[in-house]
Amino acid sequence: MTLLQSDQLEALRKEIRQFAQKELAPFEQDVETNNQIPEHILTKMRKKGYFGLTIPKEYGGMGMGKTAFCTVEEELARTHFAFMDIISLNNGLGSRSIVLDGNEEQKKKYLPRLASGEWISSFALTEPNAGSDAASITTMAEKKGDVYLLNGMKHFITNAPIADVFIVIAVTDPEKGPKGGISAFIVEKDFPGISIGNVHQSMGMQGSHKSELIFKNTPVPAQNLIGTEGRGLTVALKTVDEGRMGVAATSVGMATRLLDMAVEYASSEKFNGKPLARYQSFEWLLADMATELYAARTMLYKTAEKMDRKEDAQLEVAMCKLYGSEMVGRVVEKAMEIFGKDGCLFENVVERILRDARILRIFEGTAEIHRIIIGRKLLTGQRPS
Ligand SMILES: Cc1cc2nc3c(=O)[nH]c(=O)nc-3n(C[C@H](O)[C@H](O)[C@H](O)COP(=O)(O)OP(=O)(O)OC[C@H]3O[C@@H](n4cnc5c(N)ncnc54)[C@H](O)[C@@H]3O)c2cc1C
Repeated sequence: MTLLQSDQLEALRKEIRQFAQKELAPFEQDVETNNQIPEHILTKMRKKGYFGLTIPKEYGGMGMGKTAFCTVEEELARTHFAFMDIISLNNGLGSRSIVLDGNEEQKKKYLPRLASGEWISSFALTEPNAGSDAASITTMAEKKGDVYLLNGMKHFITNAPIADVFIVIAVTDPEKGPKGGISAFIVEKDFPGISIGNVHQSMGMQGSHKSELIFKNTPVPAQNLIGTEGRGLTVALKTVDEGRMGVAATSVGMATRLLDMAVEYASSEKFNGKPLARYQSFEWLLADMATELYAARTMLYKTAEKMDRKEDAQLEVAMCKLYGSEMVGRVVEKAMEIFGKDGCLFENVVERILRDARILRIFEGTAEIHRIIIGRKLLTGQRPS
């Protein structure tokens, strides 16, 4: 399933869209109001195998490649962000470092549980004084015999309040700092000394839970170190591209929904007896929305195909994340313009996406940081291809 023919991809898109429309869409407002995905939906997604789409088949997953998984993320994001987010984590940031750098024992122990959705995962890097500058984390992992003692606090960690297992990035050698002094660990929620601190209530992305994660002398068995000691930032950075492509796919999914809604509204709502769509100013809004969406979708799938060919695509991934997340911001603004007062209503999806979409420019690396990444790569001679 790594490389799919276009007809197989279309069949996959159709299947996910049907599931999303039939099973997820009716519960969107429920998620928004109760800030939670109903358990019966999680059960259905588990049965469909959605939690393990990218996890290799030998560990209970479906071994899906990037193009196929972006298709899934795009379709899920056309409903409510939370449905996409929970699937994205077990398939991306929450499992990828084990898939790429874990040893056989770790893969056998953790991947089947993540693939089945029995366990929910979480990726913990950010700290109160280390966001964009990930290298300045201070959470310590001190080796004591056959365990590492974890001390410190992470914050804004998606899934932390509901996760069974965390990928934690911590300092193992403060002298070496980012150059060999940071390591990655698999940490189970039941290890002693772990607690959930403040649960962050944010302006958007209801149903996706973020909180502080506190470690107080938490013993992590040495065999839970991912890869070798000191390579934690490399392990983490290898996996962030997964999350960045997820943001780009989400942006495309949200913008597709907005365009469909805007076309329908502009065709049916009347002003002075004529549908809004018959006024040139509305046609222009729709034209700009569709053109930007087309550009973002084309970039997304071209880059995903490059990743599937195992070629270096970090420059293009950064461009997809930056352009996609800013594109959906502009698209939702135009949708608001078309919907007028109706767009401000809490029950209107445009209002919800306006809040959700803004956050896409912050996490997985802010827009400013992405401009720095792209600029630096250009100055070393790289160009998108
Ligand atoms: C909803 C949500 C979910 C999240 N989930 C997770 C998660 O699961 N796991 C996790 O580890 N983290 C998570 N995060 C944290 C996220 O990754 C960080 O918010 C992000 O990396 C930015 O860090 P910061 O917010 O601390 O901003 P800061 O780094 O403090 O930056 C503040 C501002 O300064 C700008 N800035 C910073 N450095 C520069 C520079 N050198 N040049 C120009 N401008 C600069 C930034 O772009 C930003 O605008 C989440 C955040 C949110 C909002």
